[in-house]
Amino acid sequence: MGNVAVYPGSFDPVTNGHMDIIERGLGVFDKIIVTIGLNPNKKTLFSVEERISMIRESVGDNPRVEVNSFSGLLVDYVEKSEAHCILRGLRAMSDFEYEFQLALINRRLNRKIETVFLMTGASWFYCNSGIVKEAAGLGGSVKGMVPDIVLKKLKEKFPDMNGKTPEI
Ligand code: ADP
Repeated sequence: MGNVAVYPGSFDPVTNGHMDIIERGLGVFDKIIVTIGLNPNKKTLFSVEERISMIRESVGDNPRVEVNSFSGLLVDYVEKSEAHCILRGLRAMSDFEYEFQLALINRRLNRKIETVFLMTGASWFYCNSGIVKEAAGLGGSVKGMVPDIVLKKLKEKFPDMNGKTPEI
């Protein structure tokens, strides 16, 4: 099926910044496979099943978005899928160095697969899963930074989380 991209990440949890990349990616690609990289050494707040179901619920019923997980080398996963592109989002300069390294090593590992970057939407420049978890864990509100289902799940994990909309 046409032009397919794999959008990999940890999505622990999915944020509105990730959702923005998915939505805008759909303007460029016919289909996006959002996939969670399984890393047994990395401690996560949400299980892979929870992360998949939060992404699925946030995306809604869209046949152009598939959500799943993979283990092993990303390029091997992409090669076996119907895609030939890796989609990544770029925020600040701090993302750039890491993303650049990752894109180059993936290219070295498999030259048939290209990495395509979309710049973050201005509203999501500061938004990342780590900051969301830290703020929520300390009782701050992350309303407006994550989809509603994620807000609900964060409240279950952190009952002290403030429900007010922060003034930005
Ligand atoms: P993070 O923990 O940094 O949110 P992930 O591994 O889940 O990271 O991110 C997957 C991809 O989504 C990466 O390419 C990352 O740069 C991108 N991404 C994460 N947050 C945003 C955002 N707010 N805007 C644009 N891209 C983002």
